[in-house]
Amino acid sequence: MTTPVFDIASAQPYGRRIPAHLQGHFKHYVVEHHGGFLLAINFIAMIAYDLYVFADALLIPDMALESLLLRGGLSLLGLLNIYLVFHHSRNLLLMDLLMPIHDIISTIAWFELLKRSTSPDVDTFLYAAVVFIILANLGARYSFRGILLCSLTISAIIVYNVSLLNDGQSKPVLVFAIAYLPVLLFSLFISWTNINGVRLAFLNDLEKERQRDELAGLNQRLEELASTDALTNVGNRRAFDLSLENHWSQMGLNGRAFSLMLVDIDYFKPYNDHYGHLVGDRCLREVANTMSSSLRNGQGQIFRYGGEEFVILLQIDSQEELGVLAERLREEIAALNIEHLHRPDALNYLTISLGVAMSSAPGMQQAHDLLARCDTLLYQAKQQGRNRVCLEQVSETT
Ligand code: GH3
Ligand code: MG
Ligand code: MG
Repeated sequence: MTTPVFDIASAQPYGRRIPAHLQGHFKHYVVEHHGGFLLAINFIAMIAYDLYVFADALLIPDMALESLLLRGGLSLLGLLNIYLVFHHSRNLLLMDLLMPIHDIISTIAWFELLKRSTSPDVDTFLYAAVVFIILANLGARYSFRGILLCSLTISAIIVYNVSLLNDGQSKPVLVFAIAYLPVLLFSLFISWTNINGVRLAFLNDLEKERQRDELAGLNQRLEELASTDALTNVGNRRAFDLSLENHWSQMGLNGRAFSLMLVDIDYFKPYNDHYGHLVGDRCLREVANTMSSSLRNGQGQIFRYGGEEFVILLQIDSQEELGVLAERLREEIAALNIEHLHRPDALNYLTISLGVAMSSAPGMQQAHDLLARCDTLLYQAKQQGRNRVCLEQVSETT
């Protein structure tokens, strides 16, 4: 999966916005990293709410039984909602705002108890309403707008009820508001900072992931460059050495023989001398392309061994199959019909010679022995007149 692109440098330190195309990613991130917190805060708020039954019993004793029933009933409803939202719906906005919504209901319920009580402590006790706003504001991690809306709703309910409890007198409402407002603003500010922190952490994570991907891509490219021949685009000598050793050790493990071809362009020096190095380079590319296209079905890997020589590693352990393939490569290069009027023999087009052997041939002690054998066979091919394949003949019994 590719990492979505986001320029973190352009993000503002505050009020960080998540671009529309990253919203899905962001939701997933919040659920993954903060889903546990959102679930826990629901239970913590519920326990805190239930424990207030003792405060009710102490300060509004005439409402103690109603408080117990109300808090118990609301807690059951709360548990059901938590189960539905966190287990079934998995809707992030609902997860984020479930506790503040419960808080709104609890605020209304608690003021109903206060309004029905005749206790002289009601005026003092109503200051405990600040707990509702603190809980509601500090329990969110996703939507500040949602929190603002809940916060304003709870504040309106609180101020309205405080006013009712004081028969509409302005002074006690003002005193309450003076105490309440800093708590409201403080908890809103903390909430805003928390939500910004979540956004920033998400964007940082994304940037780190992007840098990791970029680095992995660069490493891969570097690895390709380090193992590719710049002129012909086939594997280079380094890649061949590694691959040969690899084939050799694999054979030690699975016992399956493999094959090697050493390919050399015939009379390439006079070709270069007469047609020039640029044409010579083009010719090398054409020969390499033709052979690698011919091997495209995964039969083998081709490398430039050096100069006008190529090596081909093949997972072939049948002498017959190997001979057929080598002959086919020779014919395909000849069929390119690249003009070569400056060779000393009777031909007038470019050809290759091949020395071909299998790792199962007798006397192979190490990978290098196979290469040396191919080199000897290539020399024989040259001696015998070029434009031919010299294949190591291994008897069936060996
Ligand atoms: P033989 O049939 O015996 O292989 O003869 P040859 O002329 O092909 O062999 P020789 O080793 O004498 O010459 C190889 C030539 O390959 C020498 C050089 O001009 C050419 N050559 C080697 N590397 C490059 C290259 O990167 N680009 C070009 N254009 N020519 C190259
Ligand atoms: Mg050569
Ligand atoms: Mg040559």
